[in-house]
Amino acid sequence: MQITTRTMQRRKNIALVAHDNYKKHLLRWATEHKDKLSEHTLYATGTTGHMIANEIGLDIKCMISGPMGGDQQLGAMISEGQIDLMIFFWDPLNAVPHDPDVKALLRIAGVWNVPVATNRASANFLITSPLLDREVEIEIPDYAAYLAERVG
Ligand code: PGA
Repeated sequence: MQITTRTMQRRKNIALVAHDNYKKHLLRWATEHKDKLSEHTLYATGTTGHMIANEIGLDIKCMISGPMGGDQQLGAMISEGQIDLMIFFWDPLNAVPHDPDVKALLRIAGVWNVPVATNRASANFLITSPLLDREVEIEIPDYAAYLAERVG
């Protein structure tokens, strides 16, 4: 696959997701970083997003609940270049019913070179990155070139 680039704007589109055992951890993390998060556009799976909106007061666009399709909605947004970063506190100790969707979401973030934090420490690194408040050029698969090669 050939590579092209995409420009992330200064104001980032950030996806927030937490599995049930980690919702309290993400809520605490988002509370600590409320000011920084409020400078960006936030998206979340349904339950996570409604909790963040209700308990922290951040403006956040909520998908359907993850197990009902919310992970797939975020994955579709990633493949359309609409998500710049993802904070995903997934549960490494317990099985979830929508494991295929979780894998798919992490996989598609990998395909489109979206920075992903999967726990508190990596989320701290991402949220304090100097790149967060700048325009950033990232490499992505060149889908137009792929189509031209395959279909002519
Ligand atoms: P939820 O989904 O925020 O609706 O609980 C999270 C997940 O994908 O498991």
